[in-house]
Amino acid sequence: MVDVFPVAALKDNYIWFIRNGDIVVVVDPSDAVPVDQTLAAQGLKLTAILVTHHHWDHVNGIESLVERYRVPVYGPKLETIPQCRHGVIDGDTIAFPDLDLAFKVLGVPGHTSGAVAYFGAESLFSGDTLFTAGCGRLFEGTAEQMYTSLTKLMSLPPQTRLYCGHEYTRANLAFARAVEPDNTAIAARIRETAARRAHGLPTVPSTLDLERQTNPFVRCSAPEVKRAAERQARRPLCSDTEIFAALRQWKDIY
Ligand SMILES: [Zn+2]
Repeated sequence: MVDVFPVAALKDNYIWFIRNGDIVVVVDPSDAVPVDQTLAAQGLKLTAILVTHHHWDHVNGIESLVERYRVPVYGPKLETIPQCRHGVIDGDTIAFPDLDLAFKVLGVPGHTSGAVAYFGAESLFSGDTLFTAGCGRLFEGTAEQMYTSLTKLMSLPPQTRLYCGHEYTRANLAFARAVEPDNTAIAARIRETAARRAHGLPTVPSTLDLERQTNPFVRCSAPEVKRAAERQARRPLCSDTEIFAALRQWKDIY
């Protein structure tokens, strides 16, 4: 039985542990120390490292972990990742027989030019591409690339659990409410998020179904999102991609 849990790292990063029995794969180890501590405390055996993109707050712990555990590192072939000898691209499958688990690789350029996401066991590890109630900034890609990437992720089954790279839900929902003040699903999610954070609990994972109801960046075809984006941009927006680009610019200064 596969189980996923987070280890908080740096300011607001999550390192995801994917476990079956005592075998574990970690996703985006930003820091080796909390990974080491968790492996030791729970008696887990690290078998591989998965990486979504090259930003330091996702890769910083890799070298130290590989030195100690000699495990393979899987990451985007189109980016330079420390110790990564298993470059992956869109459409690849990675199998971990000792976890009874396989991941499909999805190429999701936008936040960075070679970013990938991993989908397996009804779980999506999206890095900084699709966030809970938001999406990553466009550091290397275009709005069109990012919108295509988000659309690709949202085509996965609605019950898919979304595991992203940061705890950003609260700030993202504040923006979502600014875009759609009358959306009752956003209001309910804000209340639930506040309650979880008040108890120090993570608000990740969510589900793609919840994102479809509350995340403005994947709701560009909703008339109220279009109206809000046009008000902000002060011009008519003629496609979902243009609406997405206007929302992303708005969020950058929000
Ligand atoms: Zn990033």
